[in-house]
Amino acid sequence: MKVIVLGAGVVGVTTAYQLQRDGHDVVVIERQPVAAAETSWGNAGMVAPGHSFVWSSPKAPMTLLKSIVMKDQALRFKFSSDPQLYAWSWRFLLECTVEKARRNTLLKHRLAAYSQSVLHEMLGEESIDYDRNDRGILYFHRSQESLDRGIAQMKLLESDGQTIRVLNRDEVVAVDPSLASVKDKIAGAIHCPTDETGDPAKFTRSLAEKVAERGGMFMTDTLVDGFQTAGNDITGVATSRGIVSGDAYVLALGTWSPKVAGQIGIHLPIYPIKGYSLTIPIGDHKAPPEVAAVDEHNLVAISRFGDRIRVTATAEFAGYDTSHKPSDFAFMKRVTQELYPDGGGYEHAQMWAGLRPMTPTNLPFFGRKKYRNLYLNTGHGHIGWTMSHGSARITADLVAGKSPAIPMEGLLA
Ligand SMILES: Cc1cc2nc3c(=O)[nH]c(=O)nc-3n(C[C@H](O)[C@H](O)[C@H](O)COP(=O)(O)OP(=O)(O)OC[C@H]3O[C@@H](n4cnc5c(N)ncnc54)[C@H](O)[C@@H]3O)c2cc1C
Repeated sequence: MKVIVLGAGVVGVTTAYQLQRDGHDVVVIERQPVAAAETSWGNAGMVAPGHSFVWSSPKAPMTLLKSIVMKDQALRFKFSSDPQLYAWSWRFLLECTVEKARRNTLLKHRLAAYSQSVLHEMLGEESIDYDRNDRGILYFHRSQESLDRGIAQMKLLESDGQTIRVLNRDEVVAVDPSLASVKDKIAGAIHCPTDETGDPAKFTRSLAEKVAERGGMFMTDTLVDGFQTAGNDITGVATSRGIVSGDAYVLALGTWSPKVAGQIGIHLPIYPIKGYSLTIPIGDHKAPPEVAAVDEHNLVAISRFGDRIRVTATAEFAGYDTSHKPSDFAFMKRVTQELYPDGGGYEHAQMWAGLRPMTPTNLPFFGRKKYRNLYLNTGHGHIGWTMSHGSARITADLVAGKSPAIPMEGLLA
């Protein structure tokens, strides 16, 4: 078949790769000049099944409320005139029961763990340099009380096969000696030794090159405007370069998917949740992080990509606005600098903001809705790099009419 993939973020490119592997001709349409230029560029790079907890948890309504009343750094809810914000927030709140949070977390963990296995399979076949670090992720806590809560919460993922090690502060420093100077501020950590990190943009661009070398077509600088339809069929995609037609179509436009799909009556509750990142050159600094970490108290994530540190933080409701100013990064920079005083050239940090394509359940949409030959692979939220590889394989299987390798109950649109 000729399959048209809309969007060249990590989700679109991994999907194109899996479709091509199955023998299809692929065309990828992307409005940016290169792949991974939007949300897939600046994320924390964590391939982290151990981070599969949904944000729509029983704690979330109170956290949201507090963020409105107090000036919170990690979560910034802002009122706006956008009716989509309220419709989405209502659906999000409905997912915040104990039972739904548990169910959604387990579904997400299943998908994330499967996705990591697909990534490993791919790495066995392809040579991709993306500053991979497979020494796990340290989820560290600053008080014993918080650590105990974290351990209790992690039991859920452990029951689903996640490997977990509980570390005291000496053991944390043994895993990453660069945390030695702040040892007394850390109560302990949950180490997920099988979680890993790597630069998502480097990975995506390298994979896109491979797809192109093998005959895949990338239509960059090309805006998708809408669809041409006939009955239950999509007959073409309307783009800034004219109509592009194929046998099947995959929607992988991240936060922009609902805008395009809405034009043909497919309503997807995906809302942009803004996050910020810093990319810090290590240069001659002597004690950069050696293992990725999440500071669970400050909700700051830190990864090491070769000669750079990537730091991310914040969930902000700001619509589609990706602008940023230095003060947006002050808190995360201070936290990182305190943790790794000789970690990198903080004064040369590159600033970035991007939009997580969040769904109320925190689970992406797969499968078909309304049209016979339009497949959804979108809405991957806060761990889309983690879930992309498996999501791509699932989508390729659905296009081929095969059953995906994991049960899809609860994951289909
Ligand atoms: C601060 C932050 C930290 C994160 N950390 C992690 C992490 O550590 N681990 C993890 O797994 N995930 C993380 N994520 C989430 C992850 O980045 C996303 O889930 C993932 O990148 C989504 O990929 P995507 O391909 O769906 O979207 P995108 O990367 O946004 O790709 C969509 C593509 O569609 C294109 N497009 C949109 N509209 C059109 C149009 N009309 N015409 C043509 N092209 C169009 C865009 O240009 C874009 O390239 C983080 C996100 C943020 C913001």
